[in-house]
Formats: sequence, structure tokens, C-alpha cells
Amino acid sequence: MFIIFGFNKQTLTKHGPVFRNRCDRCNNEELWLLFTRRTWFTLFFIPVIPYATQYLLVCPICSYGLVITREKFEELKKVADCNMDLINNRIDENEHKNRIIELTKGRNTNRYNDNDSYKYSGKTETQINYLRQMEEIQRAREEAARAEKNNSDV
Ligand SMILES: [Zn+2]
Repeated sequence: MFIIFGFNKQTLTKHGPVFRNRCDRCNNEELWLLFTRRTWFTLFFIPVIPYATQYLLVCPICSYGLVITREKFEELKKVADCNMDLINNRIDENEHKNRIIELTKGRNTNRYNDNDSYKYSGKTETQINYLRQMEEIQRAREEAARAEKNNSDV
């Protein structure tokens, strides 16, 4: 009898969009996604034990990723959860806004483009971050609604 085992099986878990970021590789400014990447010990090609976990922020355009600390991940996971709740209509925009402001209080989680500074003049940084994020989320919600409609048409 022989045993087949390996250490190279990887799985990606997508947690949702977190904040806008300009990508150093493709130079697009988009809503980046939070991921967990696990590497597994496999037995007969079946993943048995995850032996390494990496936390990643990923550009949705070119899939360029940054490895972040677990601590940073825990912080951003709450933002991703909140955004997913809004996208899936589990909370309304007011509740989302209040939660995001609470989560990002005192933190500069966004890098944002100077071209937009006029559009958002007179607003605090938290409000600017929030408004820019809302534009992206609105788009994601419209996409989700379209996808749902297409599914129900079939
Ligand atoms: Zn990119």
C-alpha cells in the first residue's frame, strides 16, 4: 500500500471589497478585494490540514496582490463584511454609513486621487472615503441586481 500526499494545494477565500486603491502595477484605481489564501496538506489529493494562511489585498483588474498582517486583516474584514451586507441588501445605506464611519474612525485606510479633491471639497476625510466607496458599492449593487434578474429570466 502506498500513500499519496502533498503540500501544494491552495485555496482562495474572497471576503469582499474593502477600499479604493490605485494599483502600482496596472495603475487603475478600483475597489480592492480582501482574500485569505490557505495552503493545505493533502492526503490522496484531499485537503486535510491548512498549514499556512496568507492575508491578501488584491487589485480586481490585474489580480496584483499585497500580503497584509493578520492584525490588518482582522480590521479590514469588518469593513468587507459591512460592504457585503450592503451589497446583499442585509442593511440599508444609513446603517452601512454609520458602521463604516465607526470602523474607519481615526484611520486613513484610503489613498485617493487629487483630481477628485474639488468634487469633495469641504468634506472631512472620513466623508470623502465614504462617498467614494459608496459610488463603487452602488455599482456593485446594480451589477448584483442585474445578475439576479438574468437568473430569474432563465
Ligand atoms: Zn492592478
